[in-house]
Amino acid sequence: MTLDSIPLATMDLQTADGVRRNSTKICAPVMAETVDQMLTQARKAKELGADLVEIRLDFLKTFNPRQDLEILIKQCPLPTLITYRPIWEGGKYDGDESKRQNALRLAMELGADYIDVELQVAHDFYNAIQGKKPAKIKIIVSSHNYQNTPSLEEIGNLVARILATGADIVKVATTAVDITDSARLFQILVHSQVPMIGIVMGEKGFISRILSAKFGGFLTFGSIEAGLVSAPGQPAVKELLELYNFRQLGPDTKVHGVIGNPIGHSKSPHLYNPAFKSVNFNGIYLPLLVDNVANFLKTYSSHDFVGYSYTIPHKEAGFNCCDEIDPIAKEIGAISCMIKRPDGNLMGYNVDYLGAIAAIEEGLRASNGASQASGSPLTGKLFVVMGAGGAGKALAFGGKEKGARVIVANRTYDKAKQLASKVGGEAITLAELENFHPEDGMILANTTSVGMKPKIESTPLSKEALKHYSLVFDAIYTPKMTRLLREAQESGATIVYGTEMFINQAFVQFEKFTGLPAPKQLIRDTLARNT
Ligand code: NAP
Repeated sequence: MTLDSIPLATMDLQTADGVRRNSTKICAPVMAETVDQMLTQARKAKELGADLVEIRLDFLKTFNPRQDLEILIKQCPLPTLITYRPIWEGGKYDGDESKRQNALRLAMELGADYIDVELQVAHDFYNAIQGKKPAKIKIIVSSHNYQNTPSLEEIGNLVARILATGADIVKVATTAVDITDSARLFQILVHSQVPMIGIVMGEKGFISRILSAKFGGFLTFGSIEAGLVSAPGQPAVKELLELYNFRQLGPDTKVHGVIGNPIGHSKSPHLYNPAFKSVNFNGIYLPLLVDNVANFLKTYSSHDFVGYSYTIPHKEAGFNCCDEIDPIAKEIGAISCMIKRPDGNLMGYNVDYLGAIAAIEEGLRASNGASQASGSPLTGKLFVVMGAGGAGKALAFGGKEKGARVIVANRTYDKAKQLASKVGGEAITLAELENFHPEDGMILANTTSVGMKPKIESTPLSKEALKHYSLVFDAIYTPKMTRLLREAQESGATIVYGTEMFINQAFVQFEKFTGLPAPKQLIRDTLARNT
């Protein structure tokens, strides 16, 4: 069984709010201490565009079953899923088990649309109701694993046990130890003959929450407010609908993403998803928190996982996984973009240097008043590159190509030496750079991650040392104005933001992902709003 064989046909479902390309519902968990607060949250969920709410009775401070359920079910503006999660399944209820199950039975009688019954007690529950359940209600039999995600076979057996209880809907929630764990849930979801909820909790399981729409999940959970989650890794309803264009995902949606670790700070999903949407491209772009690039690519080998950006620390690992590499990336030894071709071959590119070098040249021209026609203003300049990782290589090779004299300064001297020898330059350590000023008017490019969010008060070079540079570029783009750039500006240097590098390489990547011209203004505007 592979992710290749998706038996679902592309669906176009006409709904009150337009065309949806999947039937996966968005369920907003409602977790509050009072019934009134729960109803307020439920109204908010409706406004946001959720399809149903999960009422978590175990969060109520005081609970009078008949009276409270009557109000909650009758006054809720959306269909209700009633959950009364006990402490032994990760919830808050710590009381008598028969009272808990009585409340669930009462919820059925009072017209709830769904109730959640834990697998561990599902047989008891079904025995107690003796087949008497209102026609409209659907019983979700659930299993939660807060440690890991078992093997495909074990999940298959678990689903069989859930089905044997008589469940209308199967729910399996596991925990991601690695991003590849979601693939096993996708395989089960895609082949499930009954409605199924398959969620992999935790940051490394994030993609399972979005792609459940692609793989035919019955529902995904979306929080009413970012951070107000019922389980780790849960996106907000707004994020699902606006950022990830959830209603438009279908079995044929092509999956893209940025591979890195950490990846939470990445602006790339905010940039590519709206850009895809603006040209009606049937693709999604996700943050991919990857530990091992080769494992990731091997696991998600199907034809619909097609394009990746690479960031820290995986640009070199990505390089080693390519079947073919473009000549510039080969020289640099790192990739920033990977495309899966229709024959399955992985093609690697390095588009980082294009944007950075162009932005530095523009900055120099603007400060000397030189024209485009007079050749590269980098030619003959002393060009100091701090860092010797993926971005450092790109900048150093770019500088060499433009005829600059390149100095590579890196914390780890050996890496500086290796890179410097490849570009015919010199190597020093970052510490030595503090007292390095063979001439004035040098150009500095920071490609270390020092100063990046959240450590925005760090800087790779002291303000004192910056006075010898006429232009300073920082590859970091979160924040846009780093401490290095701020101090360089105060020292009188021209500054060039990392966003310029990011934006130029984003145009190129968009074109590689979609085969369409990049919507440049939209990409610029989106980035401006998100920095
Ligand atoms: P990388 O391959 O992991 O390289 C990281 C570099 O930073 C290495 O040279 C490393 O030195 C240095 N470094 C890390 N922590 C350090 C510390 N505490 N002190 C001194 N040096 C340190 O990463 P990368 O892909 O090149 O990315 C580097 C930065 O560029 C990131 O901030 C990234 O966001 C940014 N970037 C921006 C763009 C853009 O479009 N604007 C594109 C690519 C990258 P050692 O060799 O000693 O470990």
